[in-house]
Amino acid sequence: MEGCKNVWVFVELKKEKIRGVSFELLGKAKELAKNSNEKVCAVVFGSNISKICEELSYHAIDKIYLGEHKILDDYLAETYSSVFIDLIKKYLPNIILFPATKLGRDLAPRIAASLEVGLTADCIDLGIQDGNLVQTHTVYGGNYLVDIICPNKRPQMATVRSNVMEKSEATKKTQIDLVKIPIEIEPSQLKTKIKEKIETTTSDVKPIDEADIIVSGGRGIGSAENFKIVEELAEVLNAAVGASRAAVDAGWKPKSCQVGQSGTVVCPNIYIACGISGTTQHLVGMKSSKKIIAINKDLNAPIFDFCDYGIVGDYKVIVPLLTEALRKKLSQD
Ligand SMILES: Cc1cc2nc3c(=O)[nH]c(=O)nc-3n(C[C@H](O)[C@H](O)[C@H](O)COP(=O)(O)OP(=O)(O)OC[C@H]3O[C@@H](n4cnc5c(N)ncnc54)[C@H](O)[C@@H]3O)c2cc1C
Repeated sequence: MEGCKNVWVFVELKKEKIRGVSFELLGKAKELAKNSNEKVCAVVFGSNISKICEELSYHAIDKIYLGEHKILDDYLAETYSSVFIDLIKKYLPNIILFPATKLGRDLAPRIAASLEVGLTADCIDLGIQDGNLVQTHTVYGGNYLVDIICPNKRPQMATVRSNVMEKSEATKKTQIDLVKIPIEIEPSQLKTKIKEKIETTTSDVKPIDEADIIVSGGRGIGSAENFKIVEELAEVLNAAVGASRAAVDAGWKPKSCQVGQSGTVVCPNIYIACGISGTTQHLVGMKSSKKIIAINKDLNAPIFDFCDYGIVGDYKVIVPLLTEALRKKLSQD
């Protein structure tokens, strides 16, 4: 497509709130747009989203494309992709960033395939070189990084992992250009209909992607039953429970708890790793945590090279002592 300009961010909402990863994308989009002298535009779908626009007006962006309609309240590949594709054809963006969430991973490839343009999935960094978007992506089990460019087609599209970029911070309010997208979808014409919504995670399971504190367990925990020891510490700290892939593959924890390259990348203030060795694939998922505490009985475990505090010993002894001490301390405060 000729004449493409501006950097777009698909702002994903969850329960009528902006997902944290969207602020990371907005932060990066501002940097990219500055380098290429373009504008930052947000694309938001849903109904009753005036408070979302109000929130975005504190993030120094230029424009919001607003798909405000009841039919866009719930994600349907059919509706979201058709509205998005029409929008792209009309306003010709240069770059479009999607979060590498379940929704983004479903929506972005449909759009890219329909427009016959490239898409780099699961980027961990983005830059601009010679007018092209440089999309950094991990390969060979996270051991190498590759930079991908799509020089021949526009728009350039990428999905971006959560917790790998600096979030855009709210500053002073600015005037944003609001472009309302006319939605002309006839519900009776849709091939897919939502009959019922079933939550797959129970409300008492804290999601790891936006948690402040995570207590994770690995193969060293030994069994699903033993995970209770980890969970008790998490409960005292009001933390989310994470797991290594080994613990997930063993069936001790669900996939939604998996931290790492093929799980979720996390960036909490505190990450406590219990019985986790610290392989590259786990480290790429948690190494940006502000403080890392490792508990492992093997002094030579690689995790000790990356942690801020390391405790050598059996987690079955150490974790209950920590839990008890913290319970006492926190009840005094
Ligand atoms: C393509 C690919 C993608 C992958 N993606 C991921 C991913 O997303 N996330 C991930 O985690 N892995 C991932 N892996 C797997 C990864 O390579 C490792 O196999 C996995 O991380 C190991 O998990 P672990 O540290 O729990 O187990 P191990 O490496 O077996 O380590 C267990 C540790 O527990 C310690 N231990 C044992 N008993 C105790 C005790 N009683 N007290 C204290 N410490 C104890 C041991 O000393 C050891 O260090 C991936 C692999 C591939 C090839």
